[in-house]
Amino acid sequence: MRLSRYFLPVLKETPAEAQIVSHRLMLRAGMIKQASAGIYSWLPMGYKVLSRIKQIVDEEQERAGHIPMLMPTLQPAELWQESGRYNDYGREMLRIEDRHGRDMLYGPTNEELVTDVFRSYVRSYKDMPLTLYHIQWKFRDEVRPRFGVMRGREFYMKDGYTFDLTKEAALHAYNRHLVSYLRTYERMGLQAIPMRADGGPIGGDYTHEFLVLAETGESEVFYDSEITDLRFGDREIDYDNVEQCEAVLEEFTSRYARTDETHDDAIFAEVPEERRRTARGIEVGQIFYFGTKYSDSMNAKVQDPEGNLVPVHMGSHGIGVSRLLGAIIEASHDDKGIIWPEGVTPFHCGIVNLKQGDEEADAACESLYAQLKAAGLDPLYDDRNERAGGKFATMDLIGLPWRITVGPRGLKNGVVEVTSRKTGGSEEMTPEVAIQRIVGIYA
Ligand code: ATP
Ligand code: MG
Repeated sequence: MRLSRYFLPVLKETPAEAQIVSHRLMLRAGMIKQASAGIYSWLPMGYKVLSRIKQIVDEEQERAGHIPMLMPTLQPAELWQESGRYNDYGREMLRIEDRHGRDMLYGPTNEELVTDVFRSYVRSYKDMPLTLYHIQWKFRDEVRPRFGVMRGREFYMKDGYTFDLTKEAALHAYNRHLVSYLRTYERMGLQAIPMRADGGPIGGDYTHEFLVLAETGESEVFYDSEITDLRFGDREIDYDNVEQCEAVLEEFTSRYARTDETHDDAIFAEVPEERRRTARGIEVGQIFYFGTKYSDSMNAKVQDPEGNLVPVHMGSHGIGVSRLLGAIIEASHDDKGIIWPEGVTPFHCGIVNLKQGDEEADAACESLYAQLKAAGLDPLYDDRNERAGGKFATMDLIGLPWRITVGPRGLKNGVVEVTSRKTGGSEEMTPEVAIQRIVGIYA
């Protein structure tokens, strides 16, 4: 993309309404525009990162054997009356009446709808296990929408639903989700720690929230510092292998890590004092096995191998796709702007032409741009007629991990400069080597 033809409305001023750094930077970098409280337009660069995050979530879900589909945002009230949640949900649910006087709602989540899909088609244990997921907009009329996309009213969520014949099988589905989530967040350059969460009125031990540690997080968390040394890394995993998935769950959940809802001082006191940590965290996902809650109330039954009709065991597993943009920025920025992890960056690198209109500099930039594109990358070429300082400030603000700087002086010696946004370190090299370097990073 050429910046002169792109739509990147960066702001010089720091918007007064934004209280936390990710919100400020998303506004300043021209990623989002508020439409009304907690509801945003995703401007081109924000939309690009959102799509990138969605793609990673999709890839990791499909790797785990989970099946993508799409359910609507507007749902009929009847299904929620059936499950009993129509009244329970209260004022957070946006209720709508259509022209025929039918009660509708903008879905805050999808258990009812997906259970209705399941019970309409699945009759036998032979059709299970089954995990259906979608990535769709949700609406929750939060009392206090704030922090930009972090706590929106309209937000983008991945929600997956597991259907199994037995509790045992459902717990394997739970473990499979835990593993796939660890991989997903690491690919985004994030450390998200599974913490024991509160099962709410349904209770049960089988729910974990994934938290990214950040001062601005809304949850208070307590953990054993050893947990921050764990990485999933590039290990191979067979998602059908029950023992393998269980071993990962054991490894990542055996140390103390809880949110304030489940925190227990007495158990925490058993962690050696020097490893006890209290901090704040951003919830970027949650996994939840809830047994037969919805299959009981909504009569979703299948035939087991003995021919008995039994309610199906279910779980819900969510990732806050739009909230992740905020969480990533909270975890990765400096006072100049965003520092995108390579996995989610909107453009692979920036090209800064120090002297637009200089024949040699223009030609070198065009050639770099064309070759990077030919190699399958997506560079952002700042071809505007601007001062170098302004171009650098924009690049730093929007946070592309790599920048290639091209100017007449370097070209006289046959070199361009490659700069890492994260370390600030620069290195001179020929344009050919620069291309190899950038292509190599994303290979
Ligand atoms: P919270 O406790 O933050 O209100 P939740 O536990 O009610 O969230 P879930 O139902 O678990 O949310 O939804 C799955 C994921 O969706 C959450 O882990 C979170 O990352 C994201 N999410 C929930 N509410 C919002 C919101 N208002 N804005 C943006 N993302 C959200
Ligand atoms: Mg949650």
